[in-house]
Amino acid sequence: MAGHEEGFNLEMPKVGVIKGVLAKDIEVTGEKVVNIRTCARPYRNYYSSNQLRRLALVARKYGSSKVHLSPRHNLEIPEVRQKELNNALRELYIAGLFPGGAGTSVRNIFTCPDWCSKAILPVQELGLMVSKNFGDMDMPNKVTISFAGCFNGCSRPYNTDIGVYAMAEVVLDRERKCEPDCKACVEVCPFDAIKIQDGAIEIDTTTCTGCIKCVEVCKADVLRPGRRGYRVMVGGKEGMDVRWATEVKRAIDDFSVLETIDAILRWYSKEAILRKGSKKKKERLAELIDRAGIDSIPL
Ligand code: SF4
Ligand code: SF4
Ligand code: SF4
Repeated sequence: MAGHEEGFNLEMPKVGVIKGVLAKDIEVTGEKVVNIRTCARPYRNYYSSNQLRRLALVARKYGSSKVHLSPRHNLEIPEVRQKELNNALRELYIAGLFPGGAGTSVRNIFTCPDWCSKAILPVQELGLMVSKNFGDMDMPNKVTISFAGCFNGCSRPYNTDIGVYAMAEVVLDRERKCEPDCKACVEVCPFDAIKIQDGAIEIDTTTCTGCIKCVEVCKADVLRPGRRGYRVMVGGKEGMDVRWATEVKRAIDDFSVLETIDAILRWYSKEAILRKGSKKKKERLAELIDRAGIDSIPL
């Protein structure tokens, strides 16, 4: 399903052809150099100490001993001597580090760590499945996909092309009584989605995001976590024209997340056209949504 070739041809890497090798026509100490952007394949949201050792070795041996960590968890080795590119790639490849995460493709999947105690649901396996199916796939422009284990959104799901975070619906037990004068849930809700009217709790499900911060502060068990699932948002964007993503699905299961991402990517691949005034660059997902409308996505 992924757009990149099966395996990696160790004998035939060519600058400008391999995704993740950024050819720069600059010279350092009289030699042509390139920058290598690497990512672990299959995707992991961590790098092993052996991989880091290998990375350090390659950076020292073929580059200028520098390594850069990109915002989407790619590790980049700048200033690799071009004539040593094959050797550098081969040594990285053996350690499970591939060139990638660049160009007009699905970029490195970004998830939060699996050891965070705040997670409502784990997202790492889901990130792995999405990476296996869609990672590095050719797209009209770059596509970023992020997964977060809770509404805190440490992996920035709100301003990426496709953002997914774990949520839970809030169950209100009307048989139970609130503690006297308590307003803890109202005060903690970041979205003013919960109100007390005539002594009764009311939750506005259109603005509730399922962060369950209200549940965490409810000492009387009037509020409880209900069905858990994933909220999918689309059309977010970083850069100079920052956009916030819009919800298209909520509280869905992991298989439905995969189906939703598949549908969004197919639609984007088919419908994106050249950006206004550009002869080369096609629209980002957010721009297509602006032009065609979010309801055009066949979900
Ligand atoms: S988004 Fe939530 S689960 Fe993920 S790292 Fe942040 S606090 Fe933890
Ligand atoms: S789950 Fe979050 S958004 Fe919804 S009512 Fe509770 S605190 Fe507010
Ligand atoms: S639902 Fe819980 S937190 Fe909210 S007012 Fe009642 S007792 Fe307090």
